[in-house]
Parts: sequence; structure tokens; C-alpha cells
Amino acid sequence: MTRIVLTTDETLTSTYHDVPLLDFLGCAPYDKLPKWVFRLLDSQLPDENGVLTQAPYGLRKVEAALLRDGFRRDEVVVAHPRKIERFIGKDTTVVALYEMDPMGLGPVSMMFTNGGKWTNYTKVKFLELVERINRIRDAKGLDFKLVVGGPGAWQVDFRKEEREKLRIDHVVIGEADHVAGELFRDIETGNADETIFIKGWPRVEQIPTIVAPSYKGLVEVMRGCGRGCRFCEPNLRVARYIPLEKIEEEIRLNVKAGIDHAWLHSEDIFLYKVEDRKNFYPNAEAVVELFEMARGYTRNVNPTHGAVAGALANPGMIERISEIVEAGPDHWIGIQVGFETASPRLIGKYMNNKMKPFSPEEWPWVLLNGTYVLNKNYWFPAYTTILGLPGDTEEDEIMTARLIITMEKELEEKLGNRAHFTVTPLAFIPMGLLKDQEFYRIDEMITYGQFLHLYHAWRHLYREVVRGLPTVMKDNPFLIPFYPLATLGARLVVRHLRKWGIERGFDPDKRLEPLDIRIEVEEHRWYSTPSLVEAY
Ligand code: SF4
Repeated sequence: MTRIVLTTDETLTSTYHDVPLLDFLGCAPYDKLPKWVFRLLDSQLPDENGVLTQAPYGLRKVEAALLRDGFRRDEVVVAHPRKIERFIGKDTTVVALYEMDPMGLGPVSMMFTNGGKWTNYTKVKFLELVERINRIRDAKGLDFKLVVGGPGAWQVDFRKEEREKLRIDHVVIGEADHVAGELFRDIETGNADETIFIKGWPRVEQIPTIVAPSYKGLVEVMRGCGRGCRFCEPNLRVARYIPLEKIEEEIRLNVKAGIDHAWLHSEDIFLYKVEDRKNFYPNAEAVVELFEMARGYTRNVNPTHGAVAGALANPGMIERISEIVEAGPDHWIGIQVGFETASPRLIGKYMNNKMKPFSPEEWPWVLLNGTYVLNKNYWFPAYTTILGLPGDTEEDEIMTARLIITMEKELEEKLGNRAHFTVTPLAFIPMGLLKDQEFYRIDEMITYGQFLHLYHAWRHLYREVVRGLPTVMKDNPFLIPFYPLATLGARLVVRHLRKWGIERGFDPDKRLEPLDIRIEVEEHRWYSTPSLVEAY
């Protein structure tokens, strides 16, 4: 039995057969889909006698911080959620859960559960896990503390009544790397608040290096962002860049453990070690150096997130990275990118730095041309937009739908089958500096313009499932059972959306003109040229 048991819910220990973006299955409405779908798509991380041999990165950071702060190796375990019974006993003082979306209040879940009317898969699994832990607590008469932390911990605090019923003793909100040891000792001795708000942030040197392999080879290259979008939580944190040697240490550890992948996590990879804090012109040398280092260990190097403006600001940097990781028709680089809205007015109002070094007026053009740069170099951007940004107008929303149509047409004309992107609209969630605004409830609040935005995004997504999925999953044998399911699922969503819109009096077939913008980016720009922006 172990003193500190660290774990998470099963949606975060599933590998989803390595299907790109299927990690979002956790956000799907559990009560609206056949249960076999979840069973079919689930594939859990390996464990040895209940100890996770690969674990979500956040858990690995807590583990590393506790070991650094004086806990012994045999006192801390990162356990598979299905096997926690093995580790919880009379010596256990804390069972801590790392959670991302435990109550289903995240933007993706709120979108897919009709504003929380249905229950998302993550919540189902979180509740299951907590109930199991409580059953163990009762059956064995134990008095350990049940703690929830991680980026979704705020949701547990937000749902106070449910939290009480679940008998969660502490919720930890904020980054804990620098205070983990003290925090856990305070919890053990009963000296911690019920909701612990961690003030301040760890400095780079206080962020520990992981000591065991991370899920899918994920390693963090920076924390925080700095672009200043008003709805965004990461934006509230100070931007910090992890030194190359520390990143390398983590990649080496993962690769040594047999994980042939380096997933470089950041809010925006093109901001790695950025020096130009006014225009956010990428520090291309630093970004390229990062990829070069990672490529020394594996060919499968992917960023998690990036801003399209950074890619367009320096196309040569993208080209160079693609050369380094040998991107090509059989080896695409996936990246999640914020599209948010096509409206220069809204982007200027809420996200005034997102398009830099370009201007808000250029934003739709930046999205079109930036996607061209990405696609041309075999990068597949998965965009997200926001549905229900406070103060949006019909014109703003219709412009987003028109931009999706424009990008589809223009990119396919120029690049043929190399043109790929998805757009997933997410419900506005009052976060960051917009905390005092209302949650967006699609059923009650949707307007015609928002409907067209949503409908055209899904129509395009369906198209990408049909033509893009075989491209990005070429070497994955799970494509065979998954492809028919995915195409059917996407078709049903589009059909359902049409019907739902028509019932509300919206015309899904309203003719929308493409925007008057063109692909104009020049090619073969070398990444170290600093003055490209002026050239446009
Ligand atoms: S660019 Fe992305 S991570 Fe950065 S502040 Fe804006 S929304 Fe947040």
C-alpha cells in the first residue's frame, strides 16, 4: 500500500488507438451514443502490476515534484485508474486525481453535450472513479484525503454541491510544481484549505523534469502564452520557455522507454523563446533548433498547438521544420490551431495579438494564407472556432462560414489533395478575463449566423473525414474498423444539424459567397529572414 496514490480518470489513460484527435472522445455525450462505440474506440495505456508505464504528463510532473521534495520512490505511485485498489490501504494519506474536464464544463464538452444537458464521457468516468475510491475508503475504513488537481480542477470547485456529495476533500487550482511537497504535507496534516488556490507560478528552474515516460511522448516546451486573448486561461499565466537541455532529457527518457514519438507541448510552438514581444515575430532559429534536437531522437515529432500567424510570418521556418522531420504525403504534421472567428472586429476586440505580426483587418487573409503555408509543407491544422463570443453579430458569424468555404475552395484549387484542415466550433465558456460573462447555451441562444458557422464547419469536417482520414492514418491498422464508423458518424452529425436548423427556421442551403481574398504568399522564404512581414 502506498502513501501517495496519483491517478486520473480512464479517458486520460486511453490511447484511442492512436487516431488523431480522438482524444476528444472524452467530450462526447455518453448518454446519446451507443456504449459499444466507447468500448470499441478505447485502448488503455500499458501498466505493470497496476503502475502506469506511460502516464499523462501532468501526473508525471506531480510525481517528479514530490520525489524532488523528499518523498521516497516507494511512497509515491502513478497508478492505472482500473487498478487503484492495489495501492490504497492504511498507509495511504492522499489519493490525488489529475483532471482536465471532470464535470464536462470545457468548451468541447459543452458543445457536444448541448450546453451540459447531456453527460460527457469524461464526467461519467470521473464519477465512476471517485465512487470507486469512496467505496474503497468505506469498505476498509480509511481516512486518506481525496484531492483533485489539474487544469479542470476549477470545474469541481464550480460545482460545489456535487463536490460535497462526491466527498472530495481538496481541490487544487493553479500550477503546483514549486510547492508540491509542502502542499501534499499540508494536506496530510490537515493544514490545507478545502480549495487551495496556488498563488504565483513556478520559475522555469522550479519545474521538475519527469522521471518516468509520458503518454505519447508528450514533453512540455513552454508554459503560458503571452498573446493576451481575453477568454483564455493559459494567457493568465506568465510565459516561460523550458530550456532545450531539459526538453532533451525528457525526450531521451521517453525514447529509451520505447516511445517513438516526441510531442512538443506548448500553447503556441512558434512562440518558443520568442524575443519580439511586441509583434510576436517567431524566433525561428530557436524553433528550428528545438525540432532539430527532437529529430535526433525520433522522426515522429509533432507540436500540439501553434498560431497560424506565426507560421505565415515565416514560411521558411515551416519549410525547414518539414525538411527536418521529413514531412511528406505519408508523414503529416498535425497541429491544433485557434481560428476563433473570421471577423476582424471580434478578433481585434478580444484577441488583439493573435494575428500578430499582422493586423486584425488581415485576419481572414492570414488564416487562408497561413493554412496554405502549413498544407504546402504537409502540416494538417485542426482549427477551433468559438460559438457565442459575447457581442458577435450575424455579419461576424456569416463571415466565419464564408471563410471556411473560401479556404476549402482556394486551397483545393492550389494544392489539390494536399489541402487539409478541419474546423471545430466550440461553445464560448466564460474563462480568463471574460469570467463574468454567460456560458453559451446552444439550444437557447443560437442565431442564424451562428448556425451557418456551425453547419459549414461540420460540412467541411465531414469532407475531411472522407478524404483526409485515410491520409493521416495510412499506417494505422485501426483505420479499417474506424473509417466506416467515422464517416457514418460525421454524416449523421451533418444530417442532424440540417434537420435541427430547419426546425428552427434556418436555411442550411443559403448561398454564401466566398470572401474576396486570395492565396498570395510567396514561397521558399528562408527562416532566418526577419523582415518578411513588411514584404506582404
Ligand atoms: S494565442 Fe491561444 S493560448 Fe495564447 S492567449 Fe490566445 S487563445 Fe490563449
